[in-house]
Amino acid sequence: LIQTSSLDKFYGKKQVLHQINVTIPKNKVTVLLGPSGSGKSTLIRTFNGLENFSSGEINIFGQTIEPRNNKQWKSIQTRIGMVFQSYDLFPNMTVMKNILLGPLKVQKRSREEVVEKAKKLLSEVGLSEYENAYPRQLSGGQKQRVAIVRALILNPELMLFDEVTASLDPEMVRGILDILKNLANKNLTMVIVTHEMNFARQVGNKVIFLENGRVVEQGDGATFFTHPTTKRAEAFLESMS
Ligand code: ATP
Ligand code: MG
Repeated sequence: LIQTSSLDKFYGKKQVLHQINVTIPKNKVTVLLGPSGSGKSTLIRTFNGLENFSSGEINIFGQTIEPRNNKQWKSIQTRIGMVFQSYDLFPNMTVMKNILLGPLKVQKRSREEVVEKAKKLLSEVGLSEYENAYPRQLSGGQKQRVAIVRALILNPELMLFDEVTASLDPEMVRGILDILKNLANKNLTMVIVTHEMNFARQVGNKVIFLENGRVVEQGDGATFFTHPTTKRAEAFLESMS
């Protein structure tokens, strides 16, 4: 679904991505792993044009994108959902309003259809009671579930998740990971940045391991977790277990 070729990215003089060649398979879960500062967030954000790259190209949905081509990203972005560590819900809108904004205003879908879909998704994540609540009345885990529903209602062909459990209390983490596992079982194409290694092992069909802005290892998840081929990946897995 995505293929990058020799992707480089600089922040000023500092190179943060070096010659990245990765593929993101369709209908599978790809997990991005690596130490803090290795470039995971930067890379996942290039997948939907939130981050520019300096050279190389990205092929996504069959389209080839060269650096700083913001026009091309516009239509591609409508096909991708993204959820971050911070939920960024609109504080002055109810849960339902937050969810309906995109499908009504951007996608111009019928209110009847999207309200029905919103209710279905909210019930799937255990938030049926909260459609009229405001974000401040929700826990972190509940807000994150709303953020996930808000992305899913747009029917994305690809979902990107960047450390969506990182700011949650441990007891909230499980619920969010279960939701992601459910999505994985529905064969939604996902790219997930996470430090939850058990979860990564369970859902990761593919693993991309980054260090210092370079891909150290990428391949089949089962192989990565049982027989990493590089010393660096081995040491990383050791340190995380
Ligand atoms: P973490 O696990 O801590 O989230 P990460 O793997 O997501 O780390 P990135 O956030 O992608 O890492 O950062 C990669 C490198 O790019 C780091 O060295 C970071 O300092 C640098 N960097 C990130 N954003 C910027 C920015 N806006 N300006 C300059 N440097 C940046
Ligand atoms: Mg990050």
